[in-house]
Order: sequence, then structure tokens, then C-alpha cells
Amino acid sequence: MSIKFCGIEPLSLVDLDGKLACTIFTNGCNFRCPFCHNKDLVLNQNIQEISFDEIINFLKLRKNMLDAVCVTGGEPTLHPDLEEKLIEIKKLGYYIKLDTNGSNPDMVIDLYNKGLIDYVAMDIKNTLPKYSKTCDNVHVNLFNIQKTINFLMTSGIEYEFRTTLINEFHTIEDIIEIGKWLNGAKKYFLQKFVNNNTCLQSNLNEISYINAINFKKAVKDNFEKVELRGY
Ligand code: SF4
Repeated sequence: MSIKFCGIEPLSLVDLDGKLACTIFTNGCNFRCPFCHNKDLVLNQNIQEISFDEIINFLKLRKNMLDAVCVTGGEPTLHPDLEEKLIEIKKLGYYIKLDTNGSNPDMVIDLYNKGLIDYVAMDIKNTLPKYSKTCDNVHVNLFNIQKTINFLMTSGIEYEFRTTLINEFHTIEDIIEIGKWLNGAKKYFLQKFVNNNTCLQSNLNEISYINAINFKKAVKDNFEKVELRGY
């Protein structure tokens, strides 16, 4: 499937050490997380494609205002032609952040080795035994998930792990297990789930602020930095 660009957020409030960033959205995903906010992108429906020329023109015009480009999805690494698009973005001098579900470690490693990505934000859906269930029972290749994690934790690239907290999926025991699993990692964000009508499934609930604080306390020693995001 060739890559399609389906949206630009001109200014994103992302945590990139003070960098001003825009976000560009790509189509398609191999997961089906019920809490996913990008239903149309994931299912490839109602997409209004933006040409890559438009993306490049936008980035050229804002070169003096923006520092970084976040490439998100869907799952950007599904597309073999992602690399050639990143080459064009890099030529403009942008810092590139890649959002990924971690299912395609070989592409992430290759993009890093080619100098095409500077920062990776990887979703941690749940503990390993609960991973597939948390992605609506799609088959998740856990070897690939672990390979991406290992790469991020040992390569020297800037990265973060993040979990969107869902009442129906995450207990404090799960978060403690994730903390042990990822022990020693740099940054872990516990993200607030916001239920809206763009989610794949409509009947899910957020974890309360009080519980999220307890989750954070429970894993504070496992990471250099643990933060709540969106609370
Ligand atoms: S949350 Fe991410 S990995 Fe899950 S379905 Fe949505 S885009 Fe795919």
C-alpha cells in the first residue's frame, strides 16, 4: 500500500524539548485498538488525501517557524515509500519524530541508520500477555514489539514509550508489569483517553486522575521520567 497523507496539524503541542512541530497524518494501520482516535485513517475511509507536494510546500513556507515534523498515523511504517518521503522532508532540515506501534522494527532501524528519524514515540498497548486483546485481538507479533523496544533502548536515539490508559484494559498491576518490562527506559507517558466519536469503539472509559497518579507513582523508579499526559 503506498503512503497517503491525510491531514496536517500546523502546530502540535508535542513534548519535543521545546521544539515547535507540525504533525502529518498517514493512512492505514495493522492494529485495531478499540480506543484509537483515528478511525477513518485506520480503516482507510472518508480520507481526504493531501498530495505530498502540498506537504512539502507547507513545510518550505514554515521553515523559519517550525523545527520539527511529527509523522503519525495510522501506522506510518506500513508503507515502504515512507523512506523516500522522509528523505524529502529531511532535505528541508527538519527534525523528524516518528509515531509507531512498534510492529515494524526493521524499518525503524533502517530509517534511523539512514539519518531520517530523530525521535520515536512508541505505543505500549499493555503487558505482553494482554497485547493482542488490547488491540481488538488482532495478531500482534510480540517478537517485533520487543525488537523495537530493544532498539530504542540501546541505539542512542531519542525516544519515548507511552500508554493510553483505558479503564476496561489497564489495572495498576498491568502498569507495574509494564514498568518492570521496560525498566531503565528514558521516558514513559501515561496518556489520558478522551472518548469521542472518532474512536473505533464507543463504550470505553478513561482512567480517573487519582488512579493515573497512583499508576505514575507505581512505576516512577522504573524510568528516568514518568509523566501524565492530557490529565
Ligand atoms: S491507536 Fe495507533 S496502533 Fe492502534 S489502531 Fe490507532 S493508529 Fe493503529
